[in-house]
Amino acid sequence: MSRTARQSWDVVVVGAGGAGLRAAIEAREQGLRCAVICKSLFGKAHTVMAEGGIAASMGNVNQGDNWQVHFRDTMRGGKFLNQWRMAELHAQEAPERVWELETWGALFDRTPDGRISQRNFGGHEYPRLAHVGDRTGLELIRTLQQKIVSLQQEDHRETGDHESRLKVFQEYTVTRLLKSGDRISGVFGYERESGRFFTIEAPAVVLATGGIGKSFKVTSNSWEYTGDGHALALLAGASLINMEFVQFHPTGMVWPPSVKGILVTESVRGDGGVLRNSDGKRFMFDYVPDVFKEKYAESEAEGDRWYEDPDHNRRPPELLPRDEVARAINSEVKAGRGSPHGGVFLDISSRLPAEEIRRRLPSMHHQFKELADVDITAEPMEVGPTCHYVMGGVDVDPDTAAAVGVPGLFAAGEVAGGMHGSNRLGGNSLSDLLVFGRRAGLHAARYAAGLAAADRPAVADADIEAAEAEALRPFGAEGGDPAVSQGAAENPYTLHQELQQSMNDLVGIIRKGPEMSEALRRLAALRERSRRAGVEGHRQFNPGWHLALDLRNMLLVSECVARAALERTESRGGHTRDDHPAMDRQWRRVNLVCRLSEESPGSAAADPLLGLVRVAHREMPPIRGDLLALFEKDELVKYLTDEELTT
Ligand code: FAD
Repeated sequence: MSRTARQSWDVVVVGAGGAGLRAAIEAREQGLRCAVICKSLFGKAHTVMAEGGIAASMGNVNQGDNWQVHFRDTMRGGKFLNQWRMAELHAQEAPERVWELETWGALFDRTPDGRISQRNFGGHEYPRLAHVGDRTGLELIRTLQQKIVSLQQEDHRETGDHESRLKVFQEYTVTRLLKSGDRISGVFGYERESGRFFTIEAPAVVLATGGIGKSFKVTSNSWEYTGDGHALALLAGASLINMEFVQFHPTGMVWPPSVKGILVTESVRGDGGVLRNSDGKRFMFDYVPDVFKEKYAESEAEGDRWYEDPDHNRRPPELLPRDEVARAINSEVKAGRGSPHGGVFLDISSRLPAEEIRRRLPSMHHQFKELADVDITAEPMEVGPTCHYVMGGVDVDPDTAAAVGVPGLFAAGEVAGGMHGSNRLGGNSLSDLLVFGRRAGLHAARYAAGLAAADRPAVADADIEAAEAEALRPFGAEGGDPAVSQGAAENPYTLHQELQQSMNDLVGIIRKGPEMSEALRRLAALRERSRRAGVEGHRQFNPGWHLALDLRNMLLVSECVARAALERTESRGGHTRDDHPAMDRQWRRVNLVCRLSEESPGSAAADPLLGLVRVAHREMPPIRGDLLALFEKDELVKYLTDEELTT
């Protein structure tokens, strides 16, 4: 029998970013005992890096804003592929979630008359992003942590134990979801520092593990974004949708090489920054697609007037959705009009006084000074596209965040799919985390509370032993490739670099059928080699071992991205096909659903190119009539088929 440490909780939340913490708060507020597990330090989730702000139609800066306008913008940004019910709930509930944060102690920047200030961002019709300078994520996490501490203090007063109802396990990594029959029964993983294994039994698990950026070479994402939640869900029998849609943020740093990919917030453009090529031209005016032509300025003068008088002018094209701007930058660089280090110029220095830049964009000022020795108050930045966000994720029920087909599993935040369609608008992630984090916590709690004690799924010893054996394979233990124990192991770092390079080169911002087929061939070879990923030493703080385990997840999600991207023969949002450049209305009705192959691993190994993932087409549910009525017919014809328009 396994001697792995074992505990029992009602709800386990995997991930302590915005989505996970909001879910945990809700589960605890419902009276359930909730454990939060995070692989990094508590407080160092990805959410902390969010800069620009949180989108919510509070209408503080322009009273024309309301949830319907936010819903419209979100659907346009996602090119109408969004799960519309999620987009509706998100737009309706985001303001309440922001006000709630304020009651919990968040200190947002203010308007002159004392309301929460809101700034412009790409794709948002009105100034909509509540913010704290360019450090909004930090304030969001600080506030949620503070709320957790206050709940723990309440629990201490009642039970004498701060952690009786809400406990954080930091630097714990989950490697397997456990099931009893079809139902979730808990999680298994290891402690980062000691390498000891742990099991937590719980009938409800909320995945809030964030994104997948570390599968790509140039990314704004940090080390923990290895697609763990996506892979854990797949391995537990759930499906992933929209995995072909990966967002390449238009403005990452391009120089020096050591910082390539680090994000330059969209607030720079929201606050007036402009993009220029090596000829000094504001090239975005040449890249406004037909579907957006009516909404964007035709001249620099009009675009500039918009900042002062948005009611009588159209917005500058630098504020088009991210997919459009990223493609435009890519084209300029390819045409030989790039900056010296392979990007373009982003200039705020000639647009705002130095003092104002330092006030509004303190982190950007600091980041460029420290990392690139560039003073953004005096000279332009060099920027280029960087892998930033995955729109695809766990297939969930829009109202409850329950993973389709796996009772007891829930997902929220970046790991969940559907909300953002083919392209996320800036600021819509932080609001998504709070809206659907709360919903996931609420419904996970209700699900767990609804089970009688005798009906709780139990964790089987055999499942723990299998999870232990899998985790120990990189040490050449039982079940791995004998070559590992004989010393012919593959280096996990080399495998990771090859994976990142392949995804960057072959499934990146501009895609072609033959290149993606080549990517699948390389992934098959890497998958075979990863069975021999081996490490030396012991289990105590061994980053090589951790990476060897993360490789399984990155390879799985990369296969989902490549297979779905090869299948979708059109260009839409974050998915651009050089060989299928147009958006096709027939494809709008299709969700691509990735599942783990049901064939035995043996047969997949016999033909490795078949891989481990199968992609199926699923028709999107029709958009509800009252929501469609929010759009002009002229606009809908660009996205919907004739059949959809007449029904
Ligand atoms: P995260 O905040 O990433 O949290 C994931 C958690 O899961 C972490 O605690 C991690 O340790 C844990 N975890 C992962 N795997 C495991 C595992 N196997 N076991 C245990 N724990 C695990 N969005 C906006 O809306 N506005 C912005 O201004 C904005 N700016 C951004 C700036 C940057 C630089 C970046 C990178 C992103 C930005 N985004 C922004 C996007 C947004 O920050 C993220 O999408 C969002 O924070 C994701 O939150 P999350 O709660 O889903 O996951």
